[in-house]
Amino acid sequence: MNQEIINLIDRVKADCLAGKAQDRDTIVSLLDITPGSEEYTYLCQSARQAALVITKKEAYLWGAIGVDFAPCSMNCTFCSLGEAWGIVNEEISYSEEEIIEQIKRYVGCGVRFIVLRTTEFYSIDTLCQFIRDIRLQVPGEYELVLNIGEFDIETANKIHESGASGIYHALRLGEGRDTAFNPAQRNDTLNSVHHSPLKLIHLIEPVGIEHTSEEIAEVFLNSLQYGVVISGAMARIPVKGTPLGTKPQISDQRLAQIVAVTRLCGGKNVPDICVHPPSKEAVMAGANVLVLERGAVPRDGSLAEDLWNGFDCQRAKSLLTECGYDIVQKKDDGR
Ligand code: SF4
Repeated sequence: MNQEIINLIDRVKADCLAGKAQDRDTIVSLLDITPGSEEYTYLCQSARQAALVITKKEAYLWGAIGVDFAPCSMNCTFCSLGEAWGIVNEEISYSEEEIIEQIKRYVGCGVRFIVLRTTEFYSIDTLCQFIRDIRLQVPGEYELVLNIGEFDIETANKIHESGASGIYHALRLGEGRDTAFNPAQRNDTLNSVHHSPLKLIHLIEPVGIEHTSEEIAEVFLNSLQYGVVISGAMARIPVKGTPLGTKPQISDQRLAQIVAVTRLCGGKNVPDICVHPPSKEAVMAGANVLVLERGAVPRDGSLAEDLWNGFDCQRAKSLLTECGYDIVQKKDDGR
C-alpha cells in the first residue's frame, strides 16, 4: 500500500470527525486513487467508520415522485425528458389525488424524505398548493422536498411557508456544456436556498466516465459553499437516444469512491450522504440515504408506474440493515 495515501486518508478522517474542511488538492488526490486498489479499500472502510459515528447508524429512505412526464425544452444531454431527443412525445401529469396516494404509500413504508420532482417550468404555485394539501391530508413523520426549476429568495421562502423543508438542486457536472443552463443561474438558485430556511440537498451528478476528478472536486466544493446538508453521488445512466446515451455508466466502485470522498470531506457539516443508483459497495463506503423513485425519471424513457428498476422499500431497507443501519423516519429536526 502507498503509505503516503494511507496517511492522507487517516488525516482526512480525523479532520472529518473534527469538522474540518478539505482543500481542492486533497479532494482530487482521494478521487485519483485507483478504484479496486488496496488504497481504495482503505478509503471506503475509513468513510464507513466515519459514517457510523456521524449518522449514529441512522439511515433514511428518499422517495421521489416524478410529477410530470413531459418533454422539457432545456434539453440536458443526459436527460430522457429533453424535448429535442424525441423520446417523450406525450405528456402525463399526476393529479393531486394521485400524488397524495403515492405519498401515503411512501410514508407507510418508512420513507423520510418525499420529493416532488418536475421538469424545469412546472408551476411552483401549483406545487405550493400541493404541499399545503399534502400536509393536511397525510399525517406522519416525513419531510417534503422539491426538485424543480430556478427560483429567487422570495419563492424559496414561499416554498418553506407552504410546508416543505428542503430543496434538491444541483450545479451539475458539465453545467453549461452538457446543459443549456448558465452555471451562474444554477448558483443563484442555490444561493436562494442558502438564504432561506430550506435545507439544500445536492448530489454530485450525473457522474459519467467523461468527468475528471478535478471537475468532481469543483462541483463538490461549490455545493459546500451553499450549505449542502445531504451530499453524495449519482451516476449518469446512459439513456438510449440522448446525446450522452452511448457513453457507458461508471462502475459501482467509482461511484462508491466518490461517495466515500463526499463522506470524508463533507465531515460533520454534511451529516447525510446519498447514492443513486443504490449499491452495497456505496453503502459500505459511507452512504446512508437510498432513493426510490416513480413516475417521470430522467434516467428512463418511459413512465415508471411502479418503482424504478424494481428498487422498492423492502430492498432498500434490507440493504441498509445488512450494512448495520437502522431506518428512521422523522420530521425536520432543524439541522
Ligand atoms: S434534467 Fe431537468 S431541466 Fe434538464 S431536460 Fe431534464 S427535466 Fe429538463
